[in-house]
Amino acid sequence: MKRGFYIGRFQPYHEGHQYVLEQIAKEVDEIVIGIGSAEISHTLDNPFTAGERVLMITRSLAGLSCPFYVIPIEDIKRNALWVSHVLSMTPPFDLCYSSNPLVVRLFTEAGVPVKSPAMYERRTRSGTEIRKRMLNGKVWKRLVPAPVVDVLDEIDGVARLRQIARDDGEA
Ligand code: ATP
Ligand code: MG
Repeated sequence: MKRGFYIGRFQPYHEGHQYVLEQIAKEVDEIVIGIGSAEISHTLDNPFTAGERVLMITRSLAGLSCPFYVIPIEDIKRNALWVSHVLSMTPPFDLCYSSNPLVVRLFTEAGVPVKSPAMYERRTRSGTEIRKRMLNGKVWKRLVPAPVVDVLDEIDGVARLRQIARDDGEA
Protein backbone atom coordinates (compact mmCIF):
# COMPACT_ATOMS: atom_id res chain seq x y z
CA MET A 1 0.00 0.00 0.00
CA LYS A 2 1.59 3.26 -1.16
CA ARG A 3 0.06 6.48 0.17
CA GLY A 4 0.98 9.92 -1.21
CA PHE A 5 0.50 13.30 0.47
CA TYR A 6 -0.46 16.58 -1.21
CA ILE A 7 -0.98 19.88 0.61
CA GLY A 8 -2.31 23.29 -0.36
CA ARG A 9 -4.51 26.08 0.92
CA PHE A 10 -6.95 25.58 -1.96
CA GLN A 11 -8.30 29.17 -1.87
CA PRO A 12 -10.02 28.10 -4.07
CA TYR A 13 -9.39 24.56 -5.36
CA HIS A 14 -8.65 24.90 -9.09
CA GLU A 15 -7.79 22.95 -12.25
CA GLY A 16 -4.05 22.98 -11.49
CA HIS A 17 -4.71 21.07 -8.25
CA GLN A 18 -7.14 18.74 -10.02
CA TYR A 19 -4.64 17.97 -12.80
CA VAL A 20 -1.84 17.17 -10.33
CA LEU A 21 -4.06 14.96 -8.17
CA GLU A 22 -5.22 12.99 -11.23
CA GLN A 23 -1.55 12.35 -12.09
CA ILE A 24 -0.71 11.35 -8.50
CA ALA A 25 -3.65 8.92 -8.52
CA LYS A 26 -1.86 6.94 -11.25
CA GLU A 27 1.22 6.47 -9.04
CA VAL A 28 -0.14 5.64 -5.59
CA ASP A 29 -2.85 3.49 -3.98
CA GLU A 30 -4.32 6.26 -1.80
CA ILE A 31 -3.92 10.04 -1.52
CA VAL A 32 -3.91 12.11 1.65
CA ILE A 33 -4.87 15.72 0.89
CA GLY A 34 -3.98 18.29 3.54
CA ILE A 35 -5.86 21.59 3.66
CA GLY A 36 -3.30 24.05 4.99
CA SER A 37 -4.06 27.16 7.06
CA ALA A 38 -7.32 25.42 7.89
CA GLU A 39 -8.24 27.85 10.68
CA ILE A 40 -8.11 30.93 8.42
CA SER A 41 -11.15 32.18 6.48
CA HIS A 42 -12.88 35.42 5.54
CA THR A 43 -9.65 37.20 4.55
CA LEU A 44 -8.63 38.39 1.06
CA ASP A 45 -5.94 35.72 0.73
CA ASN A 46 -7.95 33.00 2.49
CA PRO A 47 -11.64 33.67 1.88
CA PHE A 48 -13.04 30.15 2.34
CA THR A 49 -13.36 28.00 5.46
CA ALA A 50 -11.76 24.58 5.81
CA GLY A 51 -15.22 22.98 5.54
CA GLU A 52 -15.99 24.84 2.33
CA ARG A 53 -12.65 23.74 0.89
CA VAL A 54 -13.42 20.13 1.92
CA LEU A 55 -16.62 20.37 -0.15
CA MET A 56 -14.79 21.78 -3.20
CA ILE A 57 -12.15 19.05 -3.14
CA THR A 58 -14.39 16.09 -2.26
CA ARG A 59 -16.96 16.89 -4.94
CA SER A 60 -14.34 17.60 -7.63
CA LEU A 61 -12.55 14.31 -6.96
CA ALA A 62 -15.70 12.15 -6.80
CA GLY A 63 -14.53 10.22 -9.89
CA LEU A 64 -10.86 9.87 -8.88
CA SER A 65 -9.31 6.48 -9.61
CA CYS A 66 -8.09 5.91 -6.03
CA PRO A 67 -9.39 6.56 -2.50
CA PHE A 68 -8.48 9.87 -0.89
CA TYR A 69 -8.72 11.52 2.53
CA VAL A 70 -9.14 15.28 3.02
CA ILE A 71 -7.62 16.49 6.29
CA PRO A 72 -7.78 20.12 7.48
CA ILE A 73 -4.48 21.15 9.09
CA GLU A 74 -4.10 24.28 11.22
CA ASP A 75 -1.07 26.47 10.64
CA ILE A 76 1.25 26.36 13.68
CA LYS A 77 3.56 29.14 12.38
CA ARG A 78 6.64 27.11 13.41
CA ASN A 79 8.35 25.88 10.26
CA ALA A 80 10.86 23.74 12.20
CA LEU A 81 8.00 21.79 13.81
CA TRP A 82 5.60 21.83 10.89
CA VAL A 83 6.29 18.36 9.41
CA SER A 84 5.79 16.72 12.83
CA HIS A 85 2.53 18.63 13.17
CA VAL A 86 1.36 17.43 9.73
CA LEU A 87 2.34 13.82 10.54
CA SER A 88 0.39 14.04 13.80
CA MET A 89 -2.81 14.88 11.90
CA THR A 90 -2.67 12.64 8.82
CA PRO A 91 -2.92 8.97 7.90
CA PRO A 92 0.64 7.63 7.41
CA PHE A 93 2.10 8.32 3.96
CA ASP A 94 5.21 7.25 2.04
CA LEU A 95 5.97 10.35 0.00
CA CYS A 96 4.97 13.96 -0.42
CA TYR A 97 4.09 15.65 -3.72
CA SER A 98 4.80 19.37 -3.73
CA SER A 99 6.34 22.07 -5.89
CA ASN A 100 6.30 24.65 -3.10
CA PRO A 101 9.97 25.30 -2.20
CA LEU A 102 9.37 25.63 1.56
CA VAL A 103 7.24 22.46 1.70
CA VAL A 104 9.87 20.59 -0.34
CA ARG A 105 12.63 21.80 1.98
CA LEU A 106 10.82 20.93 5.23
CA PHE A 107 9.82 17.40 4.14
CA THR A 108 13.26 16.69 2.71
CA GLU A 109 14.94 17.76 5.96
CA ALA A 110 12.54 15.46 7.82
CA GLY A 111 13.61 12.51 5.62
CA VAL A 112 10.30 12.20 3.74
CA PRO A 113 10.76 11.55 -0.02
CA VAL A 114 9.38 14.41 -2.15
CA LYS A 115 8.30 14.51 -5.79
CA SER A 116 7.62 17.84 -7.52
CA PRO A 117 4.85 17.68 -10.13
CA ALA A 118 5.09 19.98 -13.16
CA MET A 119 2.89 23.07 -13.11
CA TYR A 120 -0.27 23.02 -15.22
CA GLU A 121 -1.17 26.35 -16.89
CA ARG A 122 0.19 28.22 -13.87
CA ARG A 123 -0.49 31.74 -15.18
CA THR A 124 -4.25 31.30 -14.87
CA ARG A 125 -4.54 28.15 -12.72
CA SER A 126 -3.47 30.03 -9.61
CA GLY A 127 -5.43 30.83 -6.45
CA THR A 128 -4.10 34.40 -6.44
CA GLU A 129 -5.16 34.97 -10.06
CA ILE A 130 -8.62 33.43 -9.53
CA ARG A 131 -9.30 35.53 -6.39
CA LYS A 132 -8.23 38.64 -8.32
CA ARG A 133 -10.62 37.77 -11.15
CA MET A 134 -13.49 37.17 -8.71
CA LEU A 135 -12.90 40.61 -7.17
CA ASN A 136 -12.68 42.36 -10.53
CA GLY A 137 -15.66 40.64 -12.15
CA LYS A 138 -13.47 38.87 -14.71
CA VAL A 139 -13.94 35.35 -16.09
CA TRP A 140 -12.88 32.69 -13.53
CA LYS A 141 -15.40 29.82 -13.69
CA ARG A 142 -13.54 27.98 -16.44
CA LEU A 143 -10.38 27.84 -14.28
CA VAL A 144 -11.95 25.60 -11.62
CA PRO A 145 -13.71 22.20 -11.77
CA ALA A 146 -17.50 22.55 -12.22
CA PRO A 147 -18.32 21.36 -8.65
CA VAL A 148 -16.25 24.27 -7.27
CA VAL A 149 -18.53 26.71 -9.12
CA ASP A 150 -21.52 24.99 -7.44
CA VAL A 151 -19.97 25.24 -3.96
CA LEU A 152 -19.09 28.91 -4.47
CA ASP A 153 -22.66 29.62 -5.64
CA GLU A 154 -24.04 27.78 -2.61
CA ILE A 155 -21.95 29.80 -0.12
CA ASP A 156 -22.16 33.10 -2.07
CA GLY A 157 -18.38 33.03 -2.17
CA VAL A 158 -17.72 35.83 -4.66
CA ALA A 159 -19.99 38.25 -2.77
CA ARG A 160 -18.12 37.39 0.43
CA LEU A 161 -14.76 38.14 -1.15
CA ARG A 162 -16.02 41.45 -2.56
CA GLN A 163 -17.59 42.48 0.73
CA ILE A 164 -14.48 41.86 2.83
CA ALA A 165 -12.43 43.79 0.25
CA ARG A 166 -14.40 47.01 0.87
CA ASP A 167 -13.34 49.86 3.14
CA ASP A 168 -15.27 50.77 6.30
CA GLY A 169 -18.22 52.95 5.36
CA GLU A 170 -18.61 51.14 2.05
CA ALA A 171 -20.26 48.17 3.77
P1 ATP B 1 -2.22 30.89 -4.05
O1 ATP B 1 -1.97 31.75 -5.24
O2 ATP B 1 -3.35 31.34 -3.19
O3 ATP B 1 -0.97 30.57 -3.26
P2 ATP B 1 -2.04 28.36 -5.48
O4 ATP B 1 -2.64 28.32 -6.85
O5 ATP B 1 -0.54 28.50 -5.39
O6 ATP B 1 -2.78 29.50 -4.65
P3 ATP B 1 -2.03 26.54 -3.27
O7 ATP B 1 -3.23 26.11 -2.55
O8 ATP B 1 -1.11 27.55 -2.66
O9 ATP B 1 -2.52 27.09 -4.71
O10 ATP B 1 -1.14 25.35 -3.79
C1 ATP B 1 -1.24 24.03 -3.40
C2 ATP B 1 -0.25 23.25 -4.22
O11 ATP B 1 -0.69 23.26 -5.58
C3 ATP B 1 1.15 23.85 -4.23
O12 ATP B 1 2.08 22.80 -4.13
C4 ATP B 1 1.24 24.51 -5.59
O13 ATP B 1 2.57 24.52 -6.10
C5 ATP B 1 0.35 23.61 -6.43
N1 ATP B 1 -0.19 24.30 -7.58
C6 ATP B 1 -0.77 25.50 -7.61
N2 ATP B 1 -1.14 25.85 -8.86
C7 ATP B 1 -0.76 24.82 -9.65
C8 ATP B 1 -0.84 24.57 -11.07
N3 ATP B 1 -1.38 25.46 -11.91
N4 ATP B 1 -0.34 23.40 -11.53
C9 ATP B 1 0.21 22.50 -10.68
N5 ATP B 1 0.32 22.67 -9.35
C10 ATP B 1 -0.16 23.81 -8.84
MG1 MG C 1 0.46 28.95 -3.48
